[in-house]
Amino acid sequence: MNAPLHSPFTLAGDLDVNGQPLSRIVERLGQTPCYIYDRSLLDQRVATLRQGLDPRIQLHYAIKANPMPALVGHMARLVDGLDVASAGELKIALDAGMVPREISFAGPGKRAEELTQAVAAGVLINVESPRELPILAAASQKLGVPARVAVRVNPDFDLRASGMKMGGGAKQFGVDAEAVPALLREIHQLGLQFEGFHLFAGSQNLKADAIIDAQQKSYALALRLAAEIDQPLKVLNLGGGFGIPYFPGDQPLTVDPIKQNLNALAEQLATDAPGASVVIELGRYMVGEAGYYVCRVVDRKLSRGQVFLVTDGGMHHHLAASGNFGQVLRKNYPVSIIGGGPETEVASVVGPLCTPLDLLGDKMALPKAEPGALVVIHQSGAYGRSASPRDFLGHPEVVETLV
Ligand SMILES: *Cc1c(COP(=O)(O)O)cnc(C)c1O
Repeated sequence: MNAPLHSPFTLAGDLDVNGQPLSRIVERLGQTPCYIYDRSLLDQRVATLRQGLDPRIQLHYAIKANPMPALVGHMARLVDGLDVASAGELKIALDAGMVPREISFAGPGKRAEELTQAVAAGVLINVESPRELPILAAASQKLGVPARVAVRVNPDFDLRASGMKMGGGAKQFGVDAEAVPALLREIHQLGLQFEGFHLFAGSQNLKADAIIDAQQKSYALALRLAAEIDQPLKVLNLGGGFGIPYFPGDQPLTVDPIKQNLNALAEQLATDAPGASVVIELGRYMVGEAGYYVCRVVDRKLSRGQVFLVTDGGMHHHLAASGNFGQVLRKNYPVSIIGGGPETEVASVVGPLCTPLDLLGDKMALPKAEPGALVVIHQSGAYGRSASPRDFLGHPEVVETLV
């Protein structure tokens, strides 16, 4: 499978993407910049997650991380369900072939049209505000089907050591735990079909003990709240938050203890709420390490002793790698050069935009690169194209491919 990499014609430092040299995939696409995703890495990641995990635990993919339709179609065959956060993502999930029963829809500020679309689709709606209930009841009436609802709870704790906190304290997400009992009474009165709870404490966490702690507290809180409604619990979505290593010094998450904890919770749930399932929803952990962003060196500039590799790609396609997607401190994503020289130098990788924010690599030790060389940004399978300001400065679109 790796044979082409050992051929005398292979470019320096080429990368293997599911058995093909990355540079050849770029030639096949006929353009840079591009995003390249490796199916075999997606398969491996889901297989590794399932290993030793109680088969009763449902693995969901959160489309927000990467909504490319071909990738979502691939994930739909690997996972048990898809999580969406807009009617646009809902359409992608349904087009990908996921059964509506296994799709859930979360997000603050769901528009009335979106809520009606979700009822029509028959997916589970994670209610985040009392405002949604009468709209769902009206949609149920109009369509003749009861809305399937779960309550997204804003817990009274947060996910320690998280890159991004999305629960605990005052938040726009979910319903404060203390307001949930009243909401459950209204769900009951309106005749909506209650199915469970959704708790999502935060994102990009590399500490297993913090994730375990949040899962245990989420479980306890959800079971306490479940006692407030006399409809049976069917789903308990404990969120995710699994992080991936982006920067030097980041240690990959150790998932085994998290799986053991989830297995124990699934066992406990079989007693506490027979027939209910534990769900976890992961975005970047499933897809982030399976993608590359590739651009080409257009110019090599020397400014007062510093080397700048000016490329045809930048923050307009990959905001996160430029450090402007919510990061407090800018750090470099891992970068490789294909077609560079044998010697190493310190260089900064920048894009073509007229802003100093357009920085993909700050003073990195890289193989010496001339115009024409390829720059590959690793860990780019999540929060890439769809999370970037692609219109900014009017440069060409980025293409994506799943290999
Ligand atoms: C963003 C989000 C996810 C995915 O987060 P990752 O860090 O990509 O795993 C999952 N669930 C909800 C509710 C989210 O908002």
